[in-house]
Amino acid sequence: MEAIPNKPTLKISALMCTLGHDYMVTNTITTYIKEYKCCNCGREVTDDLNGKLKELTEKSRIVNACVSSFLRKKRNRLKLAV
Ligand SMILES: [Zn+2]
Repeated sequence: MEAIPNKPTLKISALMCTLGHDYMVTNTITTYIKEYKCCNCGREVTDDLNGKLKELTEKSRIVNACVSSFLRKKRNRLKLAV
């Protein structure tokens, strides 16, 4: 009895990402900076300063968290001043 060679499996979702990713917002930093994740392949991206999408690295994740924290503190300080 011969063993059947494994055929490479083609994921439909990975094929769909070749046409374009299906991003959903996972974290809103500001009105113009958001973090996105593809529903099909799990790729994570974020908006950069030029308004384009770039890969969400550990460094950009930390920068986004710092910006979010800064804006939250600024908003709270403005609420106390009024
Ligand atoms: Zn994708």
